[in-house]
Amino acid sequence: MNTMPNTNVIFPKGEKASADYFTGTARVHILVQQDETGNYAVGNVVFEPGCRNNWHTHPAGQILLVTDGNGFYQEKGKPARMLTKGDVVVIPSSVEHWHGAAHDSSFTHIVITNNTSQGAVTWLAPVSDAEYNSVQSAHHFEEDSVSLTETAIRNHEEIFPNHKSTLKKTDPELIKVFDNFAFDEVIRYDTLGTKTRLMAIVASTIASQALTEFKVMAGAALNAGVTPVELKEIVYQAVPYIGIAKVFDFLHAVNDVLQSRGIQLPLEKQSLTNADTRYEQGLKLQKEIFGDMIEKLHSESPEDLLHIQKFLSSNCFGDYLTRTGLDIQKRELLTFAMLISLGSAESQVKAHIRGNVNVGNDRAVLVSVITQLLPYIGYPLSLNALQCINEILPHE
Ligand code: MN
Repeated sequence: MNTMPNTNVIFPKGEKASADYFTGTARVHILVQQDETGNYAVGNVVFEPGCRNNWHTHPAGQILLVTDGNGFYQEKGKPARMLTKGDVVVIPSSVEHWHGAAHDSSFTHIVITNNTSQGAVTWLAPVSDAEYNSVQSAHHFEEDSVSLTETAIRNHEEIFPNHKSTLKKTDPELIKVFDNFAFDEVIRYDTLGTKTRLMAIVASTIASQALTEFKVMAGAALNAGVTPVELKEIVYQAVPYIGIAKVFDFLHAVNDVLQSRGIQLPLEKQSLTNADTRYEQGLKLQKEIFGDMIEKLHSESPEDLLHIQKFLSSNCFGDYLTRTGLDIQKRELLTFAMLISLGSAESQVKAHIRGNVNVGNDRAVLVSVITQLLPYIGYPLSLNALQCINEILPHE
């Protein structure tokens, strides 16, 4: 999984090209206006997936140098030519043609266009969807033969910029079904926003013990604007809820992800408590989240188990949940994401549904968390979580 920033970008993206001459979004950055003889102009053009220019001619021809992505060049009445990084197209004078991106890939080329007394380009009719689609169906790029919705491509691109999946090659049918579901259909129900959604998914992958998916999603979370501190706090918070045995590998993994992006460790200090204050501060926070129930748990505890109640206050809440870097509303939401992914913590799930409501995460928020985790934890755990919600917070 590519978590590194895109290194293919050579020139700035430039201004949005006129909708009069393009279908979809293209950005044009002029590199050379003209030489001193008024002869040629050079520009960088970035087409988003599905974007192409109108049919057009160049009175004195044009050269295309393809630098990124997959696209097409087609002359009127001829089959389209597939283009990818490194391809060069020499377009003869006055030949009607179009160029643009494949439907599931962005596409970047440099254009070198000769200027004449009649200008550099004569624009004609748009390339119709029928014309464009017939080219798509006749050609399959080796790497991108999977048919994904525009929304799925856009959502995937948002968190995995310029990623080329090897699974598209080996498992095109599964990727088509999964990506269209997880990156389009499910996200239509997201009320959390990309950042919070990814934080919940990251927390869930730790509880699910899915190390490879965790690394992928930790990178995606950083791409979406989750801060290194927030990411690290999710891993730390997993320690009291899942246990260090299950968090150990993920701690190393998150350190690798952060260090691969040049982030120095350790991160800034987030702890607010010490040996003298952890019990008192933890208990205070516990009562804020769970109310009188905590008092009752302490007073009704058998004496030989009272130390566990004290651990919960001083260690779980005092040491971990009082930390800065994530507010308590976010922390309760992440605890919920972890607990429902464990699959064997129903009474804790119910207690934390109440806790979530008390810190401002209502039924709609919790249903959204479950919906967004569904592709990653599957139906049985999601349905169990929904059953807990229906019990504690019935639909009105
Ligand atoms: Mn052209």
